Amino acid sequence: MNFEYTEKSKALQARVDRFMQDHIFPIEQEYYEFVEENLWQIFPGQEQLKELAKAEGLWNLFLPKEYNDFSPGLTNLEYAPLAELMGRVLWSSQIFNCSAPDTGNMEVLAKYGNSAQQEQWLKPLMAGKIRSAFLMTEPAVASSDATNIETSIVRDGDEYVINGRKWWSSGAMNPDTKIYVVMGKTDPTAQRHVQQSMILVPAGTPGVKVIRPLKVFGAVDSPEGHAEVELKNVRVPASNLLVEEGSGFAIAQGRLGPGRIHHCMRLIGAAQRALDLMCVRVAQRETFGKRIADYSSIRQDIAKSRCEIQQARLLTLSAADKIDRFGIKGAKDLIAMIKIVVPMMTCTVVDRAIQAHGGLGVCQDTPLAGFWLYGRSIRIADGPDEVHMYQLGRNTVKSMMKA
Ligand SMILES: Cc1cc2nc3c(=O)[nH]c(=O)nc-3n(C[C@H](O)[C@H](O)[C@H](O)COP(=O)(O)OP(=O)(O)OC[C@H]3O[C@@H](n4cnc5c(N)ncnc54)[C@H](O)[C@@H]3O)c2cc1C
Repeated sequence: MNFEYTEKSKALQARVDRFMQDHIFPIEQEYYEFVEENLWQIFPGQEQLKELAKAEGLWNLFLPKEYNDFSPGLTNLEYAPLAELMGRVLWSSQIFNCSAPDTGNMEVLAKYGNSAQQEQWLKPLMAGKIRSAFLMTEPAVASSDATNIETSIVRDGDEYVINGRKWWSSGAMNPDTKIYVVMGKTDPTAQRHVQQSMILVPAGTPGVKVIRPLKVFGAVDSPEGHAEVELKNVRVPASNLLVEEGSGFAIAQGRLGPGRIHHCMRLIGAAQRALDLMCVRVAQRETFGKRIADYSSIRQDIAKSRCEIQQARLLTLSAADKIDRFGIKGAKDLIAMIKIVVPMMTCTVVDRAIQAHGGLGVCQDTPLAGFWLYGRSIRIADGPDEVHMYQLGRNTVKSMMKA
């Protein structure tokens, strides 16, 4: 394994960092204040920033080079440190058109969409003109097992009719979200992993009702939001189906590999920034006649955090490298490992930083509370920790029995 970044990646890291220093950090707080006070509205300077990032070639960098014409040509390993840099400000990846769930949906459309679907939906997504949501999870069933999904997708002439109720549909509250990738069942009698299909449903199709935004520990995450959505007799053309009936489960599996690298590297960026902020804070304040930085317990927290961040970073880079060389299937154990390790590490490191900041750490004046919420949510989103442990444990025993 060689994790020395390529010259191309290093040059882009410098440019992404410069962009963030010049354009993102200076308005970080202003952004949060706007979206909190103006629910479901887009920050006024956002489109201008996106145009700037696009003009500087810092655009769609997430899409790996096997996507040829659609891709700016980076490997997952080359992109990973860029995602880390973006992770230092929670809302920044959208400025580079590199934010979830659009990245996963763009990959799905680039890999599985036909040319008409790509023309209608992938192109505007890649241009940053619209956004998207991924509707898989359902309130009525334990959705960490995707085979439980109950939404029905029934063929009727040259249309499909969709009925079901989804929730945790991230991005569905965003006024720019124009397309949903919906997972449901086309044949509940088929074998377990080929009952499911994915279909494209334009926002605003009759029968689609956005019921309410769900709160993440009290925050609505405006303007993206995480919506509960009802689908009642929703009719879309049969040509909106992705690939063919029964391919939904396989598409869902493929969608999550690089997406997990992105989430994990952004979380590492958040953890690193939390540690940086902690170091500055404890060096500046004194209690009982001593700098807080000079207490042994604080130094231990800093040392442990530095070790844990670097362990997580190297593990994630090795997963990215393995995807590049052996595909998602070949990297599946490492992908499970990072999903188990990184969000938990972020929660631990950010928690130490919050503690060292005292009251400041829990209020809105630092990004720390938001970082902790991100880490804690990702322990459930994209599959709960236990599901990844269950699968990794099973694969580990299997490989031992083979040996
Ligand atoms: C902030 C956020 C954003 C999200 N965004 C999206 C989105 O955009 N689109 C979407 O479709 N979904 C999204 N989700 C939903 C998320 O993917 C699901 O919540 C997750 O897959 C778990 O499904 P569930 O909530 O039905 O929990 P359940 O399946 O009911 O599981 C509950 C708990 O059971 C335990 N459990 C389950 N299986 C096992 C096992 N094998 N071994 C041991 N314990 C187990 C775990 O503790 C698990 O947390 C989001 C969730 C959050 C919190």
